[in-house]
Amino acid sequence: MNEIIATRDFTAEKATPLVSAKGVCQSYDKGAAGSLVVLDKVDVDLRPGEIVGLLGRSGSGKSTLLRAIAGLIQPSGGTVTFEGRAVTGPSSGVAVVFQSFALFPWLSVLENVELGLEAQGVAPAERRKRALAAIDLIGLDGFESAYPKELSGGMRQRVGLARALVVHPKVLLMDEPFSALDVLTAETLRTDLLDLWCEGRMPIEAILMVTHNIEEAVLMCDRILIFGSNPGRVIAELKVELPQPRDRLDPAFRTLVE
Ligand code: ADP
Ligand code: MG
Repeated sequence: MNEIIATRDFTAEKATPLVSAKGVCQSYDKGAAGSLVVLDKVDVDLRPGEIVGLLGRSGSGKSTLLRAIAGLIQPSGGTVTFEGRAVTGPSSGVAVVFQSFALFPWLSVLENVELGLEAQGVAPAERRKRALAAIDLIGLDGFESAYPKELSGGMRQRVGLARALVVHPKVLLMDEPFSALDVLTAETLRTDLLDLWCEGRMPIEAILMVTHNIEEAVLMCDRILIFGSNPGRVIAELKVELPQPRDRLDPAFRTLVE
């Protein structure tokens, strides 16, 4: 792996990884066309306190890797661990925000967010309380009973974020979270998210974000993994020197949505 820039001593790097993907491979059977190798021995570590970007062309396997890390697919090779344990399916420690929001149109904002907690068997009253806190945190106060079709793209993605945060995950995975939004909306949401992160107001310890926008990656990430295509693999790592440190507060400060 090429080291392009190494400028800051990230204390986070010294910590044990929260998420570790090692030698992850994924192939798809394309029938008569043979098999398509999408991921080829990908290694990714995500440590507490860092935002890592995964930057690559469309079709290079970024979403596939994110799904493997989230436990939404079982890769054909390699291992993914979360807090040292093998990932064999989705867990509440790792939440995902999708490019296309993936909201249920027939459910209100509150119901969409509460749904994030349904699988966990959280009692209804507690579910509501946590959903309202997450909605408030992400700036959707007053829109609890609105339906997705009544919201702008930016607000829909805020619902996606609230639904991810409501489970109080340690790791947030975001798959091109701003790419369906217009430039100004994307900028506002990015800024709001970074503010929450820097102030330690989100109950998360690390973010892995897929993007094909290098400017966005440089603005948001401490470290950028450059993903090459055919097959997808990490070909370089870029460490971003930030104008001012934006190390977030102690992870123990997981209070606001609790
Ligand atoms: P990216 O997110 O970087 O655009 P993807 O991970 O979505 O890339 O896809 C990488 C490649 O794998 C593409 O060629 C895509 O068509 C193929 N692919 C993704 N998912 C599947 C699937 N479930 N079955 C077959 N091929 C797939
Ligand atoms: Mg993708």
